[in-house]
Amino acid sequence: MSLKNKLATTLLSSAVGLAASFSVTANAAEQTYVTIGTGGQTGVYYVVGQSICRLVNRQTADHGIKCTAPSTGGSVANINAVRQGQQDMGMAQSDWQFHALHGSKHQTFKEQGKFEDLRALFSVHNEPFTLVARADSGIEHFDDLEGKRVNLTNPGSGTRGTMEVIMEEKGWTNETFKLAAELKSAEQAQALCDNKIDAMIYAVGHPSGAIKEATTSCDAKVIPVTGDVINKLIKENDFYANATIPGGMYKGSDQDVATFGNAATMVTSAKVDADTVYQVVKAVFDNFDRFKRLHPAFNNLDPKAMISGGLSAPLHEGAVRYYKEKGWM
Ligand code: GLU
Repeated sequence: MSLKNKLATTLLSSAVGLAASFSVTANAAEQTYVTIGTGGQTGVYYVVGQSICRLVNRQTADHGIKCTAPSTGGSVANINAVRQGQQDMGMAQSDWQFHALHGSKHQTFKEQGKFEDLRALFSVHNEPFTLVARADSGIEHFDDLEGKRVNLTNPGSGTRGTMEVIMEEKGWTNETFKLAAELKSAEQAQALCDNKIDAMIYAVGHPSGAIKEATTSCDAKVIPVTGDVINKLIKENDFYANATIPGGMYKGSDQDVATFGNAATMVTSAKVDADTVYQVVKAVFDNFDRFKRLHPAFNNLDPKAMISGGLSAPLHEGAVRYYKEKGWM
């Protein structure tokens, strides 16, 4: 090839390259990015977020929305990230959805005041408050945690917040425990089996990877969370209910275990665009059978119950549009 021809070829290919990069830019400009805050990778929020994004991203060519669902610190961190515009949507326990809306109970919510722009999309599975203890710890009931090494989980998790609600009612402080650890949900099974802690807690759907990890890696069992304080919490708050962790679900726990729990919900902000919210909700409910197959905790979900139960914030207008189209409201 002569030098001249070579030059011409180079010029041509860079022109093609330029055209290609222009069209990439044009597509990128039309694309909307949606982030859904989840929780630890061995929880169920992570599965919810990943599943929803998978369904949304199947239709990116049609609606231009690209969805990601990173692992996060959990409910309270998600609500705060949505409030600050760092995440578009997030998973949140029904108790913390309520308290964020009212600016109550949790330190960070009280400081920020009412989150009036908080909007609900739907609720998902139930989350029994789950206590798992080493078999050699002597812990047979929640009340036995006094004087033990307990992982309270990271600040920002909904689990931590709910634990603090129970502790407040019981008049417990961090001093009540021999050790009050702050490991993240995904770190606690290993800490339990390494004998660094006696007990771990997790408000989570079942079966959960974290509880499976703890009960298969060492001798550990699910422990009842019951009593006057729990009954009082259930009686005084619509977002709490009696819950059972079915026997046989985890190694070492053949009998049903009684506890209480909340609903897992998905929230967003009124500031998030209605068309985007509409498409995300549509991706879930248009493909509902597929969604339900993605985790056993979703087995019994029913769309009409999901758009009413466990929600305290108003539904987002984009979600309402879809639910009305379906005749669900
Ligand atoms: N409910 C938990 C929390 O907010 C997260 C559960 C999960 O990741 O599935 O701390």
